[in-house]
Amino acid sequence: MANSVLIVEDEPPILEVIAVNLEHAGYVPWRTDSVAQAQDLIEKALPDVVLLDWMLPGESGMAFARRLRADRRTKSIPIIMLTARAGEQDKVAGLEWGADDYVTKPFSPKELIARIKAVLRRRAPELTDDAVEISGLRLDPAAHGVTGGKRTIELGPTEFRLLHFFMTHPDRIYTRAQLLDEVWGDHVFIEERTVDVHIRRLRQALSESGHERLIETVRGRGYGLRTRG
Ligand code: CA
Repeated sequence: MANSVLIVEDEPPILEVIAVNLEHAGYVPWRTDSVAQAQDLIEKALPDVVLLDWMLPGESGMAFARRLRADRRTKSIPIIMLTARAGEQDKVAGLEWGADDYVTKPFSPKELIARIKAVLRRRAPELTDDAVEISGLRLDPAAHGVTGGKRTIELGPTEFRLLHFFMTHPDRIYTRAQLLDEVWGDHVFIEERTVDVHIRRLRQALSESGHERLIETVRGRGYGLRTRG
């Protein structure tokens, strides 16, 4: 699954170098050169990671990071700050204001990609390739496979992502709007009942091994995956 990376960088050559390297590494770069442009994109769909330049014309990257953290919808998106400032003081400020990591220019594309992988692993386990297992249900992102006990479970791509999200965020209930944001990356153009359709399909597929009971419905609230009881 290709992760989207929103890049906010006002220097065109740097923006291009980052975008091209991300593409080569299998990511989908979203190119923007200002906070205003980035904001427009984010209102339509959520990226998996934000690479944010500190010094930007108009609103600064740091102020934008702070706003992303304050908003319920965007607060869990990993943010990596890009900056020419190497001072220890600034690093502390960056992390305190909500960035997850900090890369000082000039940086090697290799290093940047390693940092992206690391923040994804820390903040969004459903976006990494680590296998997860709950009550005999096992999902392996690298092999794109799911097994329940000894049975192979066939899932469509959306059900796979949905199950991956639930298995990495168990014992919590998510509203349909939250699931659209987290799993589809889009809560604006997709109808909420789409979630119900995919939950139904997921349950049906999991009933192959009796694991459908892990998926919990809380009336009027949403869905989750239960590891106990
Ligand atoms: Ca800049």
